[in-house]
Amino acid sequence: QDRTARFRFDNSYTRLPERFYAAASPAPASEPRLIRLNSALAEQLGLDPAALAQPEGVQVLAGNSMPEGAASVALAYAGHQFGQFVPQLGDGRALLLGEVVDPEGRRWDLQLKGSGPTPFSRRGDGRAAMGPVLREYMISEAMAALGVPTTRALAAVATGEAVMRERVLPGAVLTRVAASHIRVGTFQYFAARRDLEALRLLADHAMARHDPAAAQAEKPYQALLTGVVQRQAELVARWLHLGFVHGVMNTDNTSISGETIDYGPCAFMEAYDPATVFSSIDHTGRYAYGNQPRIMHWNLARLAEAMLPLLGEDEDTALAAAHEALNHFGPRFEAAWLGGMRRKIGLFTQEDGDAALIQSLLDAMAANGADFTLTFRHLADAALGPQGDAALRVLFQDPAAYDAWAQPWRQRLEREGESPAARRDAMRAVNPAIIPRNHMVEAALEAAMERQDFAPFEAMLDATSRPYDDRSGLERYTVPAQAEERVLQTFC
Ligand code: AMP
Ligand code: MG
Ligand code: MG
Repeated sequence: QDRTARFRFDNSYTRLPERFYAAASPAPASEPRLIRLNSALAEQLGLDPAALAQPEGVQVLAGNSMPEGAASVALAYAGHQFGQFVPQLGDGRALLLGEVVDPEGRRWDLQLKGSGPTPFSRRGDGRAAMGPVLREYMISEAMAALGVPTTRALAAVATGEAVMRERVLPGAVLTRVAASHIRVGTFQYFAARRDLEALRLLADHAMARHDPAAAQAEKPYQALLTGVVQRQAELVARWLHLGFVHGVMNTDNTSISGETIDYGPCAFMEAYDPATVFSSIDHTGRYAYGNQPRIMHWNLARLAEAMLPLLGEDEDTALAAAHEALNHFGPRFEAAWLGGMRRKIGLFTQEDGDAALIQSLLDAMAANGADFTLTFRHLADAALGPQGDAALRVLFQDPAAYDAWAQPWRQRLEREGESPAARRDAMRAVNPAIIPRNHMVEAALEAAMERQDFAPFEAMLDATSRPYDDRSGLERYTVPAQAEERVLQTFC
């Protein structure tokens, strides 16, 4: 059957002034080959997966042909990278193909990542190696299945081009789907240029896309900022609940929509330690697991700073509005974090001692190298009774540390009316059995890059697609790395 890959594009971003972006064409891929198409996501977007998988569709996903109505632009933005302001970054290896309107009328950016140089590439080649493309595909899809707001992966295509890194690597292009690609850094770009008109247009655009209710508020721009603060506070709490370390929380990687964006050297922690860092470029631990809330607050302060001209007629009014918005972060994060942690340990009610109970578990885990994911997963069984304790005790170097915690925990559970079975089910629904463990991710990447064997990549996608289920045959995805398998550093 002859199918055509049609896209219902409506490109609102390119209706903004030309200084918001730069036109760019993808570099040709000599031998495009589809590695993976996310058919379920394609359908949600109102795209035809069968057409996308045909050669004509793959040409589009490789950047070799532009579908009708496409935009093909690189977006301008600035950003603080590891605390240092860079007034111009921009899409150096990505192109906005356009905004697809799905059958429900929702708007999604379609972006090709790794499709060649743009006017923002500086010294970069605009390319992506296959490893980072497959890594982003695996982790972003795992995050989506875990229920975390995130950009998505629609497709990965091998380009047939060689990419020069420390060594020669096969190139690939990721098709990324996002609620938008507007970042904190986009606001910073125009603020740094004192381009008040652009700042206002950007804020109005962001409001229309992400927070139409803010436009009706008494102070729309303050409401927009408050909304971003709240979404990001909730997002970072979700990361902590899952042991996720983003790795590069620069302001250009902090989205206005509240989605997790830009999967580089990100990874999930195994043994619980708040100081955990995987990224090879994070020398000071700025973006360590436990620093993420503080850093997010810092990034949002940079957003507030960039938005100051919109927040009040005079400086005092604007500063007061900025502080008012930023002050939502602490309480919102604490409530989201504590609420989620209560659910993780099986609590349905609230008591004053809960935070201390949770902290004492985390302290015991940190002191005893307990696997973050397995500890909470096994707690669901232990909530049924002490017969579940054996699986937990072995996770702690000193099992007595677990016993000491379990006693007050059980007393706390007894003060609740919930049935043990209902509690166990509720706990299993928030404590995943499967996360993309680093050594499994690395093994999948190695097989793909070294042997063109995509089976481990496919198997990882399947395993992480239903993270809260126990499925037989997937046991190897549920266990921590052996000492010799352990991945200590990740690269972007
Ligand atoms: P990231 O670390 O992915 O957030 O990227 C930071 C900045 O570097 C962004 O402006 C990217 O577009 C740019 N960049 C990263 N890799 C490349 C590359 N291979 N070629 C050109 N620009 C790049
Ligand atoms: Mg331009
Ligand atoms: Mg980035």
